[in-house]
Amino acid sequence: MFRNARCKTLLSPFRINQVELRNRIVKSPQASGNATSDGAPTDGALAYYGGLAKGGVGLIIVEGAAVDFPLGVVGWPRLGIHDDSFIPAYADLTKHIHSFGAKTFLEVQHAGPSHPKAMAGLQPVAPSALADGEKPVPTFDDARELTVAEIKTVQQQFVLAAERAQKAGFDGVDLHAAHRYLLNAFRSRAWNKRSDEYGGQCLESRARLSVEIIQAIKERVGKDYPVGIRLNVAEWGLKDGITTEESIAFAKLVEEAGADFLDISGYGYKSFLWGYWGDQLRLLEPADEVRPWLKTVENPGFIVAQAARVKKAVSIPVMSGGRIDARVADRDIKKGRVDLVFFARRLIADPEMANKVAEGRWEDIAPCTACLECWDSTTTLHTAVRCRINAASGREREFEIKPAERKKKVLVVGGGPAGMEAARVAALRGHEVILYEKERRLGGQLPLAAVIKGLEVEDLGAITRYLKTQIGKLGVTVKVGQEVTASVVERLKPDAVILAVGGVAVVPDIPGIENKIVLPAAKLHRQSKALLRFVGPRYLRWLTRIWMPLGRRVVIIGGAIHGCELAEFLVKRGRDVTIVETSSKVGGDMVVILAQRLVQWLKKRGVKVLTEVAFEEITNEGLTITTKDGKRETIEADSIVTALPLSPNTALLQAIDGKCGEVYSIGDCREAHRIIHAVCDGSRVGRLI
Ligand SMILES: Cc1cc2nc3c(=O)[nH]c(=O)nc-3n(C[C@H](O)[C@H](O)[C@H](O)COP(=O)(O)OP(=O)(O)OC[C@H]3O[C@@H](n4cnc5c(N)ncnc54)[C@H](O)[C@@H]3O)c2cc1C
Repeated sequence: MFRNARCKTLLSPFRINQVELRNRIVKSPQASGNATSDGAPTDGALAYYGGLAKGGVGLIIVEGAAVDFPLGVVGWPRLGIHDDSFIPAYADLTKHIHSFGAKTFLEVQHAGPSHPKAMAGLQPVAPSALADGEKPVPTFDDARELTVAEIKTVQQQFVLAAERAQKAGFDGVDLHAAHRYLLNAFRSRAWNKRSDEYGGQCLESRARLSVEIIQAIKERVGKDYPVGIRLNVAEWGLKDGITTEESIAFAKLVEEAGADFLDISGYGYKSFLWGYWGDQLRLLEPADEVRPWLKTVENPGFIVAQAARVKKAVSIPVMSGGRIDARVADRDIKKGRVDLVFFARRLIADPEMANKVAEGRWEDIAPCTACLECWDSTTTLHTAVRCRINAASGREREFEIKPAERKKKVLVVGGGPAGMEAARVAALRGHEVILYEKERRLGGQLPLAAVIKGLEVEDLGAITRYLKTQIGKLGVTVKVGQEVTASVVERLKPDAVILAVGGVAVVPDIPGIENKIVLPAAKLHRQSKALLRFVGPRYLRWLTRIWMPLGRRVVIIGGAIHGCELAEFLVKRGRDVTIVETSSKVGGDMVVILAQRLVQWLKKRGVKVLTEVAFEEITNEGLTITTKDGKRETIEADSIVTALPLSPNTALLQAIDGKCGEVYSIGDCREAHRIIHAVCDGSRVGRLI
């Protein structure tokens, strides 16, 4: 039904107050990390938001800018709008966005209890100072309660911020009253324990701060200037958290106060350490109390369904979203559930999504696989936003694709993500590209990783499908089932060779490693790949529930990404698992939030995790180690699997040394890492040639 959807409703114009939007596709506010240390937008912000505007988005809501800096931010690099001196930089940004026909609002925010003290030594502020057992997020720093006089100052800061946004040319503002920020905290009974006019059981009191801010801003900027509010439709998994019913009542209050639109999000607590908004998290059988909100993960339209209930109660425009694709968005608008739909990660994966939807080029839309690399980059690594599939994200200028000065014959060896991306970019630049893959299908490790990780978690197949389609369209000659040797390179005489042959499994040097109870991951991978030739990942995953060549008690040697994901896979198939790791860290090479959750989940499922061990020997009884306390012990096991990080595969590089002018190694064959690094390498070298 959806295959050739034209999305006429999603692409139809819409008006918020006096602002005309060319379509109903909204880029939701999401930290992009394009900010200086004092909060000004960088040139990178121009390139990032300019790309989205050029890509056809109707409305760009520029990520949260703090009304008070640094106290109002949740980390760094983040934007601020706390001083008039920032107006010119924002004016450049709005001018740039407008030049491509998009409209832009600025999200204005105060982090409140989410501000980390470690950033600048400032104690976070909140409606109430909560004791340790009361804090909705136990890992947050102790916040101090705002006095009424300070609340008035915060109101003033919001008003000044909105006025600056207007002067800078933004078409409207969106108050951030969602997630775990200050305005949300005032509205939530879980966070707000005050007994004055800004707290208590009565919703009007808890909503007072947001209502007064909207009224004061409208007074200052004029009735025609759009002022909206972003809110959690509910706080799931939190005792006394906001309910949808409360949000409906709140929506009516802010509408009366003069709000021009509602931007509806949501928030889930407890199932993860860092508490990031629900649907962006990996599903790992969470604690029972959070099951209701997990519907957001299982059913990506869940937030929109809640937003639809709010919409029925108000007459102002409502926008919402959350992991839905453009076709579902179109249907939701058509059915009157919402007026506009926001997209976050899908637009990071492909800033040109809106144009491609309009042109019906569905197969050309780079897929978001919900890997959370974008979150990790801006929050943990403190860089500009990075994306697994869109290597240019956060470095748009550096990664601009320019036609090649001289057309070359380029040989790509290996059809994993690195090789396919290199072929795509080199072909886009006008080179003649031939790609060889020794297996009978493209994708490299991805089908295998999909079997181990679970198809419901990340659709890794979408990456292969997208890249395969693109290289096909670009005229890359693809030869599958053909291994490249030095003689093939000599025969083909390419101007440039890109080696994307992946990594090789490492066999640890442990006495007894030849024992029959040892199953090297490489062998497991080989067997799985052989099966994958005949059956797809879905069937193979099902098959492993019935049979696997492993006993009940399994020791996994290696606690990096392969070891941890294998452990999850085996636990779900009834095995007793122990992970042994020589370093002090498990999951160290994974996206931080996923590693934390996975390790937590594994421990909860009884997986023994031993770090800083030394391997002594393998016998029929199991693996003997020396623990970090210097004790020698034997972990009894029926099977031992080696799952150490891969090492670069340099055999072909050595074999063709001196036989070809330009040779590049990319992806796991340069340094074994993750898909994001493989794609980035492919993209970088594709631009270089
Ligand atoms: C079980 C598992 C789980 C993983 N989980 C994750 C994860 O959660 N997140 C993540 O980001 N990454 C994960 N990875 C890692 C990720 O899959 C790799 O980093 C990525 O696939 C590397 O891409 P690549 O193109 O460099 O190499 P590969 O994907 O290994 O592709 C190399 C290709 O080259 C081909 N080849 C080799 N030699 C020749 C030759 N001489 N001629 C022709 N073809 C040749 C191979 O057949 C292969 O198809 C996982 C990997 C595995 C195995």
